[in-house]
Amino acid sequence: MDCLFCKIVNGEINSYKIYEDDVVFAFLDINPDSAGHTLIIPKKHYLDLDDIDLDTLTHIMKVAKMLKLRIEEKLNCDGLTLIQNNGLVQEVKHFHLHLKPFYKIKKDKTLEEVYNLLK
Ligand code: AMP
Ligand code: ZN
Repeated sequence: MDCLFCKIVNGEINSYKIYEDDVVFAFLDINPDSAGHTLIIPKKHYLDLDDIDLDTLTHIMKVAKMLKLRIEEKLNCDGLTLIQNNGLVQEVKHFHLHLKPFYKIKKDKTLEEVYNLLK
């Protein structure tokens, strides 16, 4: 299957990986809305919220709780939004959860700088 995020999971395409376990893979969004914008994806290919099973979804949320704390601690953000797109608004057709930090005062950091803080 020609899926961008499956290729990231199996290493065919490079990413700024900040967390990995048996079930999930988390990496920095290549076009971040803010410093620390992260995507959590299941290693197995699921299309969207209808397709994914509850055990995998629960695991993704556990990892989201853990990474939220890491992002808050390392990047000192003032808030953090979780987003999961489906259908027309979903660009990449492999389930993913966005973690988007919010800053009162915008902080410009390169992906490399953010990666070195979060890895
Ligand atoms: P969505 O609209 O929810 O499908 O968002 C897809 C996200 O994937 C966007 O925020 C993109 O910037 C991000 N993205 C696309 N290609 C890559 C890539 N190679 N590495 C990291 N993030 C990517
Ligand atoms: Zn996939």
